[in-house]
Amino acid sequence: MSGRKTINDFLSEDLIDITQLLTLVLGQNKEQLYTYSNYELTNKELNKLDELIQHRQNGKPFAYLSGSQGFYHLDFKVSPATLIPRPETELLIDIAVELFRPNQKIHALDLGTGSGVIAITLADKCPAWQLSATDQSNDALKIAKLNATRKIDFYCCNWFKTLPNKKFDLIISNPPYIAENDPHLKDLQFEPTEALISGKDGLDDIRTIIKLAPQYLNLGGYILLEHGYNQKIEITNLLVNSFTNIKTYKDYNGVDRAILAQYS
Ligand code: GLN
Repeated sequence: MSGRKTINDFLSEDLIDITQLLTLVLGQNKEQLYTYSNYELTNKELNKLDELIQHRQNGKPFAYLSGSQGFYHLDFKVSPATLIPRPETELLIDIAVELFRPNQKIHALDLGTGSGVIAITLADKCPAWQLSATDQSNDALKIAKLNATRKIDFYCCNWFKTLPNKKFDLIISNPPYIAENDPHLKDLQFEPTEALISGKDGLDDIRTIIKLAPQYLNLGGYILLEHGYNQKIEITNLLVNSFTNIKTYKDYNGVDRAILAQYS
């Protein structure tokens, strides 16, 4: 016996995400790990695994270690320049696809696309929709372009700033919406703050988007926003000036999470 540690040795230790970390280092799926649980890791594999265990124990999210995260029916590359896609955001997809038919030739805009999840998932599900997406981070856009499964017009800009003069049928966004002193931020320290925090009440960016959106919407077009658990009433109040048919949605945890309104 060489005395090197086996898969089984690691699986029986109480280490955070150890199964996923082993799958990452060994390139095997979970079933294979259990089947070959007596496999002794090489020095190289042990060093790599130790490094990943350290990162995970320091709180680095698993998605940043693996470099990818599933969202809806697709797998997305992520990097520390992008937020890690959340299951709550899948709600926006469900709402959006109900608004138009997949073969309707509409123009939709995803503001602050990050890794591209919203624009890319919609483009993939709705073949006739023409998607545009913005982000102010070039590094995020690089990732989004790698993730795209079909043509999307990407723009590097702060919300609408340098968008061509064009009107959309749907503006959709998961903007930053966390208040700058929210204690929950300490759990999100590995993600880009510019994708999370939006001023004192978390509403600075949502205010900007709602103010500018009418210039970029066709009459009858929709705005659809993700927001924080306690922002529904304030956002409704911001929308009533220019929008009608305001509808609010809870996420799958029963938390107020999205708002839809029509420009009319
Ligand atoms: N939904 C994320 C969270 O609270 C925040 C993302 C955002 O601000 N858009 O963890």
